[in-house]
Amino acid sequence: MHSERRDYTDQITPEMGSEEVTIAGWVHEIRDLGGIIFMLVRDREGIAQVTLFKKTTPPRLVSAVKSLSRESVVTVRGRVKPEKKAPGGYEIVPDEIQLLSKAASPLPMDTTGKVDADLETRLDSRFIDLRRPEVHAIFRIRHHVLQSVRSFLTSEGFIEVTTPKVVATATEGGTALFPITYFEREAFLNQSPQLFKQMLMSAGFDRVFEIGPIFRAEEHDTRKHLNEVTSIDIEASFADHNDVMKILERLITHVYTEVCRDAEKSLNRLKVTPEISEPPFERLKYAEAIEIAREGGEELVWGEDLTTAAETIIGEVIHETTKANHYFIIDWPTETKPFYAMPHENEPEISKAFDLMHRNIEISSGAQRIHNAEQLTERIKEQGLEPESFESYLKPFKYGIPPHAGWGLGLERLLMTLLNIENIRNTVLFPRDRKRLSP
Ligand code: ATP
Ligand code: MG
Repeated sequence: MHSERRDYTDQITPEMGSEEVTIAGWVHEIRDLGGIIFMLVRDREGIAQVTLFKKTTPPRLVSAVKSLSRESVVTVRGRVKPEKKAPGGYEIVPDEIQLLSKAASPLPMDTTGKVDADLETRLDSRFIDLRRPEVHAIFRIRHHVLQSVRSFLTSEGFIEVTTPKVVATATEGGTALFPITYFEREAFLNQSPQLFKQMLMSAGFDRVFEIGPIFRAEEHDTRKHLNEVTSIDIEASFADHNDVMKILERLITHVYTEVCRDAEKSLNRLKVTPEISEPPFERLKYAEAIEIAREGGEELVWGEDLTTAAETIIGEVIHETTKANHYFIIDWPTETKPFYAMPHENEPEISKAFDLMHRNIEISSGAQRIHNAEQLTERIKEQGLEPESFESYLKPFKYGIPPHAGWGLGLERLLMTLLNIENIRNTVLFPRDRKRLSP
């Protein structure tokens, strides 16, 4: 088998005539109509129909197929015949069928899409759930998103780096950390590569990006929160918040455009057409955003983070006026954002921090950072934190660090908004949430 040629189901065309092909995959369905048996075989590219005629097909093949269970793994060698009613417009008349791995029955869940399963059941049997073409398609697109992010940032002069996920102290002084045992010491899973990205600015890397896991120990149970997230992070030197917002909006447009170009088949499987937003995206001041929320009936006090209800109202109003899904919320209250966000020089109660929104979902947060050690120490104190516990964070700022800015973009939030997916858990192979730790 392994030395032989293997054809993916989408490489076979009706025009191939009686050419011999070999497909390998899972038994999707068997329909025995008496004189004729259809066996649908599924591989990662699609589904092919294998047709057996009781009169002409060798009896050993007929009985082999009759004894097959759904989701068993087989190879089929046979000849191509045009057949308008079959997927791809062809069928395969088999000369040889080989069983490679038998699937037990009943299956933990249905793969044909005929029986609806709830998300919990699906995630419990994720290896089977992932076999479903429309689920598979999400991860094809996820691959294309990652590819296009890498190519875009590389073309913009960014270098890909990877930084530790096991750390000694909190990045943002938050409580939302998972403690772990590191030999005889306590350590944590990192909530953000922030500190490392900034150290690399001091180290002269100038422009870096990282795509890696971040861990948040917050007890959310919402459609948009996970406890392990894949974060796309950038940091750029000699740049301010406006510079990195421009990079972010161009990245979003680039990803949408590339996915539409390269993942057409997967998009069709999901029946979605991503709506591409063209830069420049709307820049809405925080003060204007809470005003819109108020007019929509959601009372917010200046300095509060936006509630989900407020985000929904704002997203709708912006969409009505701009016809676009993406917009920035800028000029956040300094007290609302992490201590490392740079306050405006002439108006220090607001900071050079921004969120990128898609309708009512935040997909990215970023800012120009404070690069002055004294100012940073002050801000740490003002936020009620102790500068002593940020010693290793503060050190690089004392020995020459350029002005810099950056952002973090959640890959799963990007995917769920790109594909109009309601629950973020659908965008991760094996999601980690408040309740789920396996598979
Ligand atoms: P939220 O307010 O939506 O909980 P956040 O403001 O706490 O998110 P940041 O610390 O700003 O999140 O992280 C930057 C980006 O990382 C977010 O915009 C989001 O895309 C992603 N992200 C952060 N936390 C989560 C999470 N728990 N689940 C999914 N994505 C997340
Ligand atoms: Mg944020």
